[in-house]
Formats: sequence, C-alpha cells, structure tokens
Amino acid sequence: MREPSVARSNPPGGEDFYRRLADHSLGLLCCHDLDGVLIWINFAAAESLGYAPEDGIGRKLYDFLAPEVRPLFRDYLERIRVNHYDNGFMRLVARDGTQRVWMYRNVLDQSDPVHNRVLGLALDVTERFRIEKSLQQSEERYRQLAAELEARIVVRTSELEQSNADLQQFAHVVSHDLQAPLRQVRALLDYALKDTAAEPRTIIERSAEILERMSTLIESLLNYSISSNRGCDPVRPVDSRSILAQTLIDLQSSIGDAAAQVTHANLPAVMMDPADLLHIFQNLLTNALKYRSEAAPAIHVDALATESEWVFSVKDNGIGIDPAYAEKIFLPFRRLHGSEYPGTGIGLAVCKKIVERNHGRIWVESRPHEGSTFFFTVPR
Ligand code: ADP
Repeated sequence: MREPSVARSNPPGGEDFYRRLADHSLGLLCCHDLDGVLIWINFAAAESLGYAPEDGIGRKLYDFLAPEVRPLFRDYLERIRVNHYDNGFMRLVARDGTQRVWMYRNVLDQSDPVHNRVLGLALDVTERFRIEKSLQQSEERYRQLAAELEARIVVRTSELEQSNADLQQFAHVVSHDLQAPLRQVRALLDYALKDTAAEPRTIIERSAEILERMSTLIESLLNYSISSNRGCDPVRPVDSRSILAQTLIDLQSSIGDAAAQVTHANLPAVMMDPADLLHIFQNLLTNALKYRSEAAPAIHVDALATESEWVFSVKDNGIGIDPAYAEKIFLPFRRLHGSEYPGTGIGLAVCKKIVERNHGRIWVESRPHEGSTFFFTVPR
C-alpha cells in the first residue's frame, strides 16, 4: 500500500498525539496480527460492539464474527497477506447478541519487518444496511403488489368482457325472444279489431297462453341472470351421490312416466355448493328424459378423476344432437326444437354459468339418433 502523496503539514505532536487522536476517533480503528489476534482497538470500535477496548485485546477478531461468515475469515487474512490490503463488509456480533455491519478497508503495515500488522479502518454501517434492506423489501413488496394488481386487472377485464357479452346476449334475447310473443298478441288484437266475426273468447285465451309463455321466459331470464352473479367458493365437500339421489326423488314421477332406467357409478365427494350440483343434475336428467327416443330412456351418471378435476358425465340414449350445435345449445334461449318439446332454452345456459362459476367446464358429445353424453368438470 502506497503512502498518500498529498502534502501534509507537520503534526502538532508526537506519538502520544496520534494515540489520543486514534483513541477518540469516531471512525472504527483497530490493529491485529496476521493470525487475526487483536493488538489494539479504539473506543469507537469497541463501543460499536458494546465492549470496552481492553475486552478485545488479545482475542481473535474471528471470535467477534457472525457465525455464518466465520468460514470466510481465512480467505480475508490470505487476501491481506497477498494484496497487502482488503476492503468490504464484515458482519460481527455485539455483546448483546445483535449483529453489526462494518464497512472496512484494512491495510498491511510493514513498518516493523518482524511483526507485520494489519491496520483496521472501518465504519459502522449497520443502520445503513438495515434501511437499505427495508427499502429493498419495500421495493420487492411494491413489485409484488403491482404484479398482483396487474393480474387482478386482467381477471377483472375478462370478467367485464364476459359480462358485456352477457349483456349483449341479454339485449338480443329481450329484443327478439320477448318481442315475438308481444307481436303475436298484437297481431291477434289487430285481427279482433278488423274482423268483427272473430271469436273474442278464443282470442283472449290465445293471448293469455302467449302471455303465460312470455312470463315463463321472463322468469327464466331472471334465473339466468341470478345464476351469473350468485355464489362464492364452497368451503365443504358435498357427496355427489346423495345429491343425485335427491335429484332422482325430485324427478320420480317423470322417471316413472317415461319408464326410465337411471344408473350410476361410484360418485365422489366434491367441493361444490350442493344447490349448484342439484341444479346441474336436475337440468341434465330432465333433458335426458325429455329428449328421449322411441326406446325407454336409459341414463347413466358417472365421474372419473383426472389429476386436477372430476369429470362427471350424464349419458342418455335419446334423440341426440347434431355436433354443429354442440356449443350453441349452451347459449341462452338456443333451442333445437319447437313446441313439440316444451322448454325455454335456458337450462343448459344456467348449467354452464354454474359450472364456470365453480371453475369447471361443460360440453356435450353426441350425434343425431345416437344419444348424448353431457360432461362437466369440478376441480379436485
Ligand atoms: P330447453 O330444454 O328448455 O330447450 P336447454 O338449455 O336445457 O333448454 O337445452 C337447449 C337445447 O339443447 C334443447 O332445446 C335441445 O334441443 C338440446 N338438448 C338439451 N339436452 C338434450 C339431450 N339430452 N338430448 C338432445 N338434445 C338436447
């Protein structure tokens, strides 16, 4: 290490002067030999660790190091031996057990050729470290929050897009499906006004029928919009077998009328609101009974486990569905039939809403005259 080349004025005193200067310096000063044994330590250095200067003398600097950095001490001494200086950060343990961080620049003093010594010059930067660490943590937390917020915005945006699409669907339904019966009633009344021979009772009865159907449509629409917004994640598993048993009780008379056979495999317990599961089973089984073929309905309910979800299936031997309509039938008010099969076309749309709200999917595999299998998933 070269001596500084800055011109200096003569010191105002001898060795005693320097000793007192070093003793009372606010900088942390010490001196140790090449084995790390402390020869001298000033007040500030001792105080930083909660000791008096004499407590340290004769002890190894190694003993004051934090346990996790002790294995590095040998390298530190080696660097001083080779490079004649070393700088960096040293983690030490104070008398009260707390850790201190020293920023040091220690140099090899070769003024005594027999006993080379190391002059230790350090600053206690524990506070600075603490603040930097807490700043880093705040920054990390801030980044995490920003990422979470962004993810939430993505989810919200897609929810809003979905709800926008629902609203459009809703507007479409209101303008088409609900206008149609109104137009029919209007046509009937026009006819009654123009044609004096028209039978008023028939016209009133026909209008009442149409309005009744319209009221059912409005009710279904309401159910659909409720099913979109209702519910939160269930906290308890529900036994799907007992929910199916409940469904079979509810549909007892339709099953009996159709002479249907309903069978099922071993059904699992799933994390789902029981009312939701009941609704889905009821809809799928009602359809399986309603859209039956010439043969007596044979319906089978099954559930298979994948790694992440349960895949339920409701299989029937009914009239089947053209695969071209496999997705459309899950949209509200989409029906493939006229009045020969009663219904409003809302059942599967509600099932889809419920399944998706429970983080699952629903779909159908079918061909005309070959029966249909409806699948829906529930996360495990
Ligand atoms: P809805 O039964 O009131 O018409 P859904 O939403 O339950 O309403 O069904 C939509 C359409 O899907 C039905 O009109 C029918 O054409 C078809 N569909 C549903 N389930 C079956 C099934 N099991 N077999 C054949 N077609 C079906």
